[in-house]
Amino acid sequence: MEKLYDLPNSRQIRLIEGDITRISADAIANAANSGLAGGGGVDGAIHRAGGPEIMRELDEIRPTVGRLPAGQAVATSAGRLPAKFVFHAVGPVYRGGHSGEPEALAECYRTCLSMADERSCRSISFPAISTGIYGYPAEPAARIAIREVISFLRDRALHVQEVIFVQFGAAAFAVYETTLAYALQVDPSAN
Ligand code: ADP
Repeated sequence: MEKLYDLPNSRQIRLIEGDITRISADAIANAANSGLAGGGGVDGAIHRAGGPEIMRELDEIRPTVGRLPAGQAVATSAGRLPAKFVFHAVGPVYRGGHSGEPEALAECYRTCLSMADERSCRSISFPAISTGIYGYPAEPAARIAIREVISFLRDRALHVQEVIFVQFGAAAFAVYETTLAYALQVDPSAN
């Protein structure tokens, strides 16, 4: 399943149900962990599909950054993935929503979007960061992701033309569909 949303200035948001490792984009955001050590979920899928080169690069980066706080990201090449870069972003672990999780999740998206723009990427794909093992409820997480992406595409993007939200499963796709429809309808500059 796939839907395209046109924004002003020929910017686009694409919503896809599927596996992020199979979708071409200049940059792929990964839901990594603070240790940059690889894990399950989308992180495991990205390392499996991308091959060992990505972990080799992380092995070199890890000592220089230590444990990465939530909201931050590091870039590697994309190995065998259909992309130029992977941005390994650390989402917040959900602890009820009053421990800075919304701000950290928003920062994750802003960090990756800026990294993409700095590298002259035209497109970047995102999974639903923090909504798996880290336990962030899907709906508030979608509202944050969508708000940050719309604001970036509208006000700050120089190179990025398209942001691709890749949702794993029909339920996750439906949450994004509803949230995007609402966000774009209430955004006066989207009309
Ligand atoms: P986190 O630890 O940040 O919660 P997870 O990988 O556990 O990260 O989950 C993040 C989201 O990614 C979840 O919604 C999960 O369903 C989704 N996901 C898992 N595998 C893939 C994949 N191959 N492509 C896209 N999304 C995926």
